[in-house]
Amino acid sequence: MAAMGITGTTRLCFVLGHPVAHSLSPAMHNAGFAALGLPFVYLPWAVPPEGLAAAAAAFRAMENFAGANVTVPHKERIRAFLDALSPEAEAVGAVNTIVPRDGRLVGHNTDGGGFVASLGEEKGVDPRGARVLLIGAGGGAKGVAYALAAHGAAEITVANRSAGRAEGLVGGLATQFPGCQFLALALQSPRLAEAVRTADVLINATSVGLIPGETLPLDLEGLGPTTLVCDVIYRPPETALLRAARERGCRVLNGLGMLLHQGAAAFQLFTGAAPPLDAMRAGLARGFAGS
Ligand code: NDP
Repeated sequence: MAAMGITGTTRLCFVLGHPVAHSLSPAMHNAGFAALGLPFVYLPWAVPPEGLAAAAAAFRAMENFAGANVTVPHKERIRAFLDALSPEAEAVGAVNTIVPRDGRLVGHNTDGGGFVASLGEEKGVDPRGARVLLIGAGGGAKGVAYALAAHGAAEITVANRSAGRAEGLVGGLATQFPGCQFLALALQSPRLAEAVRTADVLINATSVGLIPGETLPLDLEGLGPTTLVCDVIYRPPETALLRAARERGCRVLNGLGMLLHQGAAAFQLFTGAAPPLDAMRAGLARGFAGS
């Protein structure tokens, strides 16, 4: 057997990023392919921004291309090189998964759906009717807001350092989801205290917390133990926000489940097979431990 079972009929998947060496996706997807005995392999591909057009052209030229994930800093710029976008990718303005379909490259965004799947699988929480406080208005936050609204959240308050970005996010989704009540706030707004007090689910979707100990300028005074507090960050596994929430008696959820479930949705798009979640979770854990 060739390395990793690679033969002349192996189909190729990639993660495009810059840098990409830290990515846990190869460990997760290759574990999934192995568990199902699928003739697929998943490779990291470090592509600088100026190489993005060539990378897309290479996908078009590769008959055994099965799909790719796209990570920082390419999620928005890659759209220009694709033929079509899913409704989520269109609304969010970012692509994290590409698949070839009938000779065309189609962009999807599975990040927000991954977050909602993680809420359900790990905490038994259905966002239908929920009051959500979402901190952040970048690409990750937009995907999460879209998925929560699409799954029937009743209220989504978006608080961001730059209030204009929160307003842009909310404005785009409000027309699409008239059944959901949206509010945009600046992170410094005095109205934030009320949103913290009443939220069923509070989510940090900023990059604050990636550096251990780094804290959001968020007053948690009114945070009660019935609020589920989530962070999209998974490294470190417990951010300062999650720690503070846990100490206040809240249930907490980090971003590892979101990573798993966005990957599971991509796996299904690549292979057409139901993702083997346990094997992918174990692959992720091995990758995490080894990184
Ligand atoms: P973006 O660069 O698009 O957005 C960054 C966000 O963080 C903005 O809202 C920005 O506010 C805010 N921010 C940055 N620094 C500060 C600060 N000092 N104080 C307050 N707010 C700040 O990033 P992404 O949305 O792509 O990523 C955000 C996080 O989500 C990252 O940690 C990423 O790793 C994570 N992520 C996790 C995934 C998973 O599977 N678990 C999937 C996707 C993302 P402003 O607009 O004011 O600049």
